[in-house]
Amino acid sequence: MLYRVLRWITTWYPLAVLWLCIAAMILAFSLMFVFPPGTLLLLFLGLAGLGAAVIGFRGLQAMQRRLARRSMAHGVCPSCKARQQWPTAGEAWRCAACGTALLASGEEDPADEDRAPAAEHSTTSRV
Ligand SMILES: [Zn+2]
Repeated sequence: MLYRVLRWITTWYPLAVLWLCIAAMILAFSLMFVFPPGTLLLLFLGLAGLGAAVIGFRGLQAMQRRLARRSMAHGVCPSCKARQQWPTAGEAWRCAACGTALLASGEEDPADEDRAPAAEHSTTSRV
C-alpha cells in the first residue's frame, strides 16, 4: 500500500512541480506591475525551491527503491503483495500477478512498456 502511494507520488511529482512553477511565473508576472520587489522575491524563492524539489524527488525515489527491495527480499511483490518466487536470473523481475517489473536495485524497469502511460511518465522524467 505504502509502495503504491509512493509510486503514485513519484509519478506525478515532476508534473506538479512544473505546474507550481508555471503558477509562480504567472503570479510573478502580474506582481511586476503592482509590487516589483515581490517578483524578485518569487524569483529567488523559486530558484531555492527548485533545488529543494530535486532533493525531495531523489529522496522519494530512494524510499520507493528501499521499500521495493525489502518486499522483494521477503518474496512479496511490492505493488500487489502477491507472494511468489522471484526469479534471480536476468536483469528484471516481473510480478506474474500485476506485471510490475523491477530491477534488482528496486527501481522500476525502464524497458518495461506494457504498463499504464502514467508509469512510463515516471521513468522518462527522471531528474
Ligand atoms: Zn504484483
